Amino acid sequence: MNSSQNNIQNVVILGGGSAGWMTAAALSKVFNSDKCNITLIESESVGTVSVGEATIPQISLFNTLLGIDENKFVKFTKGTFKLGIEFANWKKKGHSYMHPFGTYGTNMDAIQFHHYWLKMYLQDKAPDLSAYSLLCNAAYKGKFNRSQAIKNSPLSNIAYAFHFDATLYAKYLRSFSEERGVTRIEGKVKDVFTRSSNGFIDSLLLEDGQRIEGDLFIDCSGFKGLLIEQTLKTGFEDWSEWLPCDRAVAMQCMPKDEVKPYTKSTAQDAGWTWRIPLQHRIGNGYVYPSQYVSDEEALETLRGQMESEPITEPNFLRWQTGRRNKMWNKNVVAIGLSAGFIEPLESTGLHLIQTAISRLMGFFPHRGFNQIDIDHFNEQSKLEMEQIRDFIILHYKLTEREDTPFWEYCKNMPVPKNLEDKMALYESNGRIFRYETELFDETSWLAVMHGQGLRPEGYHPIVDNLPEEEVSRRLQHIQSVIDKSVDTLPTQDEFIAKFCAATPD
Ligand SMILES: Cc1cc2nc3c(=O)[nH]c(=O)nc-3n(C[C@H](O)[C@H](O)[C@H](O)COP(=O)(O)OP(=O)(O)OC[C@H]3O[C@@H](n4cnc5c(N)ncnc54)[C@H](O)[C@@H]3O)c2cc1C
Repeated sequence: MNSSQNNIQNVVILGGGSAGWMTAAALSKVFNSDKCNITLIESESVGTVSVGEATIPQISLFNTLLGIDENKFVKFTKGTFKLGIEFANWKKKGHSYMHPFGTYGTNMDAIQFHHYWLKMYLQDKAPDLSAYSLLCNAAYKGKFNRSQAIKNSPLSNIAYAFHFDATLYAKYLRSFSEERGVTRIEGKVKDVFTRSSNGFIDSLLLEDGQRIEGDLFIDCSGFKGLLIEQTLKTGFEDWSEWLPCDRAVAMQCMPKDEVKPYTKSTAQDAGWTWRIPLQHRIGNGYVYPSQYVSDEEALETLRGQMESEPITEPNFLRWQTGRRNKMWNKNVVAIGLSAGFIEPLESTGLHLIQTAISRLMGFFPHRGFNQIDIDHFNEQSKLEMEQIRDFIILHYKLTEREDTPFWEYCKNMPVPKNLEDKMALYESNGRIFRYETELFDETSWLAVMHGQGLRPEGYHPIVDNLPEEEVSRRLQHIQSVIDKSVDTLPTQDEFIAKFCAATPD
């Protein structure tokens, strides 16, 4: 039996980017600092990626775990709210659509709403899907509010996420963690010692000569994976055949107009640019494939499309898309970029950190480390990343663009079997099913499949039980309720001014 003497006593987190500090914050909240020491090592000379500023609604679970006051959090991180992502020029040049966080319409007779809409839309008797989304309409009009307790109203169910300053986010979590007993060490790891008996990591040697010992090491050292890869040689599965973008350049600028509550992604001749609006600045970046675009060309494209002069130097980043063969190997758990990376098209990086932390808590080991725990952790992590990967590939695969070699490649590339099946299922009769653990739900798949131009041949047969005039009447009613509801919302600027305006520097 595992007794308390066998409990982990020293957790060492290597890295103080978002992954390191999110991990430190969550573990320090849950574990008693008298029984388990948590040490975080970071090096200012190495630095962090300093991106990762758009989130998805699931982040509220993490904030709740920490007990964060949301208004204070948004104020501190100079954040804004996010109702979805607009995708411009992805289907074809000049076209755009929104992937909203909330649902479309309302389900009827146990059948998903979109089947009713499809019946009418496929006959040109209903407007585009976005007309039935409160969040699409609110986002485009720059409106925002939290859910309100109004029965049978779409206003009672407003799903949202945040945009925030990544550096301030890490700072916020650092003070949260240090208040709960986490020891921070500033220093660069220059050597890693392993135990000859089992190859487990024993200690880290810093440049100043300090030696940090631990039972469990969390590798949050970024893309290089100092422990999981450079020391343990865990191996990597490459996904670049489906997701060829492997570089980014990021720069900040000041906003020109009113800041609206959504992220914008604009497809370029190869890759895409992002625009993330914060209270005090706009984050811009260009994610591009080095095979088709040079760093100089990428910088020129980004500068040319920013709404005002850059206020920072360009931050160039490079990666290999894919995942580690194992996210947990021996006594090292990789969290964040060290575990693998899928481009930030749907803002999933911080989410993957959050779920890795919660999975680690679920499988938290004794000093004996049971292999069955490790295997389950790895299996779940693998599945989660593959499901997200397929959703990201969908955006590229379903393009109508063939105007450049990059888009021609994406449109014609073979895709993983699960994704192929999902597209075929929708194409036949508009059916979408979410596997239990899948991050992206039916609304997300519908938004992107429809937004990218996939049209089903039919719809659910039960829809025909309702006379067409009745379907039409209900659709019109839903649309009018949404329009009226959006009219009652404050603008995001008004909401922020009232509840969470950042203090000017
Ligand atoms: C271009 C781009 C855009 C992104 N956009 C989003 C987004 O919009 N939304 C989202 O959710 N995610 C996004 N992500 C992902 C997100 O940025 C990362 O998941 C997140 O920042 C976590 O990074 P990290 O902490 O793993 O690594 P890093 O930020 O690289 O931190 C690594 C840490 O390890 C330390 N370190 C490394 N080596 C040593 C050493 N030898 N000694 C001591 N310390 C060391 C460094 O000092 C640093 O503190 C994006 C990623 C990229 C590349």
